[in-house]
Amino acid sequence: MNRTDFEQLLSRRTSRRRALQAGAIGSGIIGVSFAGAPTRSYAIQATPAGTPVATPVDLKTRPSVQFGAYPFQLGVASGDPQPTGVVLWTRLAPAPIDGGGMDPLPYELTWEIAKDRNFSTVLQTGMAVADPNLAHSVHVDVTGLEPATDYFYRFMAGNEVSQTGRTKTAPARGQAIDALNFAFVSCSNYEHGYFIAYRDIARQNFDVVLHLGDYIYEYAANDYNVREPENIRLAEGGETLTLDLYRNRYALYHTDADLQAAHQSAPFVVTWDDHEVDNNYADDISEHEDPLDEFLQRRADAYQAYYEHMPLRPSSLPVGPDMQLYRHLPYGDLLDFSVLDTRQYRTDHPAGDGVFPRTPNSTSPLTSITGPAQEQWLLQNLDRSTSTWNVLAQQVIMAETYSIVAEGEAQEYYTDSWSGYPSSRERILGHIQEAGISNPIVLTGDIHTAWAADLKANFDDAKSATIGTEYVCTSITAGGTEPSNFGQEYRDTFDYIKFFDGRHGGYTAVNLTADAWTSDFYTVDNMDDINSGTKKIATFVTEAGNPGAQEA
Ligand code: FE
Ligand code: CA
Repeated sequence: MNRTDFEQLLSRRTSRRRALQAGAIGSGIIGVSFAGAPTRSYAIQATPAGTPVATPVDLKTRPSVQFGAYPFQLGVASGDPQPTGVVLWTRLAPAPIDGGGMDPLPYELTWEIAKDRNFSTVLQTGMAVADPNLAHSVHVDVTGLEPATDYFYRFMAGNEVSQTGRTKTAPARGQAIDALNFAFVSCSNYEHGYFIAYRDIARQNFDVVLHLGDYIYEYAANDYNVREPENIRLAEGGETLTLDLYRNRYALYHTDADLQAAHQSAPFVVTWDDHEVDNNYADDISEHEDPLDEFLQRRADAYQAYYEHMPLRPSSLPVGPDMQLYRHLPYGDLLDFSVLDTRQYRTDHPAGDGVFPRTPNSTSPLTSITGPAQEQWLLQNLDRSTSTWNVLAQQVIMAETYSIVAEGEAQEYYTDSWSGYPSSRERILGHIQEAGISNPIVLTGDIHTAWAADLKANFDDAKSATIGTEYVCTSITAGGTEPSNFGQEYRDTFDYIKFFDGRHGGYTAVNLTADAWTSDFYTVDNMDDINSGTKKIATFVTEAGNPGAQEA
């Protein structure tokens, strides 16, 4: 079965779902999260309050509690570093891809955080409750740590001890740090190859790793096929349509040793794209336009399973089909991350979901990929920032891309990206330019290929100002071993596209100082070979005060 990705979209027009017709803009607002718009009504089942009802089984005082199998088979993770705190995550799951295998009771477990890998000096320890309503996951919001410092952490349950993770806090405001080293990744499809890229990340001891979405893929086994006769390894079950299926899918991914190693090596900052729920959904509109209540129930289940499996603060706990994921993470005076959610609040694809010419809806001021509240929040972050570099960590490509057509034919845009929502992009880039925001950088995933681009005041005018710089990482695996060279034509046609590489499998590492942003693009040699290595294929630099990507 063909699955849409950027390449397929560009080579084959799709019309799975028609756009709102021109003139239907007014009705399009209803059901979308515009302030003042009518509230939609849900028929959503009760969601977990996160408050256990039964008395927790205390695994410290009752170490005789036996698990059917090792309960930490999903590993450990940390996330969202702040100067004095970080979130620690694990999930008790002795039968990971079969519902977890725990009795439906709350369990108390112990966590420890130390200065050294051997835990000879334990700095803090505490109890956490693994709540059956949250699949026995725990999210410990540790505070009282030192800025820009390495720590090690682990969990204990009964006689069992988890893997040890290493994490690192963010620098404090005003704290002088020489450099920051981090990676950004996206599109980790379990079926398409081994997670060699995650393994390589684990070796690098990054300060932080950003996952920009498509952490899982929701499809039935082999449905998104990239290899004959079938993908190199297969997920179990059908498409993830229920909470149980999403939980088993996330658990399957978390059983991967390389994914676990990446999490154990550094804190992650995660955001989702579409496949954490449903391909190319837009707010409450699913890929196949399912009934609203049905899709919102699915979205609630998907968001809950996402929360249960990610190192997110309890403040991200979803409420029904809503989950606050966009957030702001400053890294001292060097860098501010604004982590965006371009799925949950976007208006419907203004010209249809696929590759289409623009319609009046495309340029309507009501069209938005962020929703108005998130847009205001983002512009406020940027205005208030005192950091040298200001990063939008987000999902879909922002630089203008359209199919190159014959003379006289209407240009066709990849409508799932910012090119489908040009008014959103113009408002944000326009504000960045007018306000003189310091060194804006956009980080992107989604298209399974690596890019560097200049973000222009007017993409049609090569002489117009370059406002910022966009770096796009390739997939961890999605797309498989055969490269997709569709972007070469763009690279050759548009001056503002400075780099394109069509290989799937890899990541982008960033070395950041006050003077320069350096992006190193890595690719996996052969993701079908579990012993494969990686190599650096390109380096692009943005100098502070001089927006745009230059080959090093
Ligand atoms: Fe993807
Ligand atoms: Ca995507």
